Amino acid sequence: MIHIEKLTKYYNELCAVDRIDLDINKGEVLGLLGPNGAGKTTTLRVLTGFLKPTSGSIRINGYNIDEHLLQIKGLIGYLPESAPLYYNMLVFDYLNFVADIRGIESNKKLTRIRELSDLCGLNEVMHKSIGELSKGYKQRTGLAHAMMSNPEILVLDEPTSGLDPNQIVEIRKIIKQIGKEKTIIFSTHILSEAEATSDRIVIINQGKIVADGSAQSLKGSGQSESSVNIALKGPDFESVKDLFSADNTIVRIEPDDNGNDDIVRIKLYCRSSSDLMENIYKKIKATDWVLVELHQDTKTLEKIFRELTMEQ
Ligand code: ATP
Repeated sequence: MIHIEKLTKYYNELCAVDRIDLDINKGEVLGLLGPNGAGKTTTLRVLTGFLKPTSGSIRINGYNIDEHLLQIKGLIGYLPESAPLYYNMLVFDYLNFVADIRGIESNKKLTRIRELSDLCGLNEVMHKSIGELSKGYKQRTGLAHAMMSNPEILVLDEPTSGLDPNQIVEIRKIIKQIGKEKTIIFSTHILSEAEATSDRIVIINQGKIVADGSAQSLKGSGQSESSVNIALKGPDFESVKDLFSADNTIVRIEPDDNGNDDIVRIKLYCRSSSDLMENIYKKIKATDWVLVELHQDTKTLEKIFRELTMEQ
């Protein structure tokens, strides 16, 4: 549906987006995740035709953005980071105005406004002025604006930025609901946000894509080595080392934070293997030691994000 090839954007000497290749499928909810200044907003502004790229190409539903900007703008609803709203207008009047500029026929306007009001949870503030609304409701109004012409694609720049935790949950729910029918690309620098809302996460850093996949697949990626923690009553460190010395799935064995008690704590670094825990358990079971603890460290998305976006 969306095909981005070698997309590059310079601001004078500064390369904000650096040869990005990305294909986004119909119906995907894609979280564009990256630290501040990674190039998320620039990518979204170029994708929506609000900025011209320095080089590279964007095709959406077969339209090339250089030649068919108007058609592409018609396919996309865009919610910028600070949605430009008219604060002195009532929510209803504002949506009515947006419906007019989007060319919604007058006999269909009311139905469309009602649909969006239900979807975005605006019913109770329809007759309030936008300036009086909380940030969460302002964001919902911006979302209704972006969806007025029922676009196939929604592009949301940091849609939960500055919202309180309850408002964040509400906006996430709305995004998930809309994502059942639409293609959504949203940016965030909050990991849990990307994980909770998207099918696919693209991590961008210094203008480049550094990871692309589901939260689950990213957690599994790069995991060539994993570690297992065990705590035992009975043996000393050297005896445990001897027990596992012939096991070639175990790369190294290190003592781990031994306290003053009679429990020996050990970290086993292993080559990833599905039956890792079972192997270790069976070996220990064959001894007369008491197994106090056995658990595998899992790589968190936070850890992957830090590894991928740490300053070089
Ligand atoms: P944030 O999460 O802070 O919004 P971002 O990932 O959206 O960051 P961008 O806003 O795209 O990142 O910025 C990428 C780089 O381009 C940054 O170094 C930024 O300072 C720079 N930049 C952005 N807009 C402009 C501009 N109009 N002129 C010059 N440099 C810019």
